Amino acid sequence: MSFKYVIHTKSVPNRFKPVTRSGIIAWEEGCLRCAVCVKTMCVYSVYDNRGLDPRQMIESIDNQCMNCFRCVQGCPGELIHKSLNPEFIALGDSHWTPQIISQLWTQAETGKIPVSGSGYPGAFSGSGFDSMWTDMSEIVRPTRDGIHGREYISTLVDLGKTPSHLSFTEGGKLNKDQPPVINIPLPIILRLPSFGALGDKTIRGWVMAARRMETLMALPQDMINGALDDFGKWIIPQILPEGQGPVTIPKGGRVLELAWSDNWQKAVKDLRHSNPSLFISVKIPMAEGMDEKVLLLAKGGVSIIHIEGSGNGRFMDDETRFVKDGIRSAHLKLVGAGIRDEVTLLASGGFSMAEHIAKAIICGADAVFIDLPILVALECRMCRRCTKGVPCPVEIENASSNWVASRVTNLLGAWHNQLLELMGAMGIRDARRLRGETGRAMFFEELDRSTFESMGKIEEGCELE
Ligand code: SF4
Ligand code: SF4
Repeated sequence: MSFKYVIHTKSVPNRFKPVTRSGIIAWEEGCLRCAVCVKTMCVYSVYDNRGLDPRQMIESIDNQCMNCFRCVQGCPGELIHKSLNPEFIALGDSHWTPQIISQLWTQAETGKIPVSGSGYPGAFSGSGFDSMWTDMSEIVRPTRDGIHGREYISTLVDLGKTPSHLSFTEGGKLNKDQPPVINIPLPIILRLPSFGALGDKTIRGWVMAARRMETLMALPQDMINGALDDFGKWIIPQILPEGQGPVTIPKGGRVLELAWSDNWQKAVKDLRHSNPSLFISVKIPMAEGMDEKVLLLAKGGVSIIHIEGSGNGRFMDDETRFVKDGIRSAHLKLVGAGIRDEVTLLASGGFSMAEHIAKAIICGADAVFIDLPILVALECRMCRRCTKGVPCPVEIENASSNWVASRVTNLLGAWHNQLLELMGAMGIRDARRLRGETGRAMFFEELDRSTFESMGKIEEGCELE
């Protein structure tokens, strides 16, 4: 692709009042009646925008405050305080934290990179991708400024087998007879979340977003109906293991996904026979024995492999192992066998932030699937009422397809810009060059081991955090 890939975003308002992190409490008693009240100096004009009189006492949950604490610190009488909203604290779970959920909402609403207003508030290190830091040593080179820089940074990736070397004809011309690949300009593919109050309009909206961004959306084949006839090129039908139902490929479809089964070889052979031009991806669970299955599939000629982690970023069968480590292990298995370029490795499992995409690629994935973020983009509160048959508090199933598509486009527009920023800061101009670049990242557990292991055994309860 020779054009500069840009995801166009525009503000797409919420349909419901968001659950916000904090409220402001200001006490009138003791107020010095300053000539200029700190509330009028809010850099985000929160008090003005809300039409509040600086002299009045405020006790409210508000959704505009950026928590910069300027007013809290600036009041000479120390009369302004911030309070945490209990409804906000109760959102999500330990993986899908309230902060992550609210940042996804903001990105889907604005299409912009989120700012906290008060710096990075998180821990120094954590589990999963939080134990990984990227090398931003090129951050000072303005030409590589990701979003606005003069040097184009490409996030395009190839799906399918790529040539490991160039070959030439007898006349010395480049041999163009290479295996075909599918290019997608963004290393992110959408897929159906595991829950949600979904309607036909929701599904159509997601597929519309995939088409707008020229990526793909994976859908169980029984959800692909006539309303999606125009979108076949952008859909990956997920078909059942061999023998469990008929296979229907939407018109224009380019790739399908088959779930792993013991007789995958026959299933792949039959599919190839009936759909010779289709790319076949095989999905395997990120669980014990995954590496061997990856190798088996790659050696068996499957050119796209999807390793599927759990919704909270872990192995399917082991809560102590993380998707990050599963990707590294599968990637290195293929590298060790000398066949890495013969396979596209797709990963899924709890990706909730733009940085996770870059980190997954550094660990060895070519591209990733995201699922719950495209639901949260629609104001989902992760309350899981829909799984119990209780009505959705934000009526997601009633949202128009256009609104759905625009919210998801905004979210991925913001993620794409963050990816560009990150790659620019790393000095990497092509997402395909980022794959497996673990030399440009640091892993806490490895640093911990190399620094402290020689000092002896760590007593229980004295581990570093
Ligand atoms: S904390 Fe900052 S953003 Fe929030 S109201 Fe006060 S000055 Fe404005
Ligand atoms: S807000 Fe709750 S009920 Fe609605 S889709 Fe999300 S988890 Fe389901």
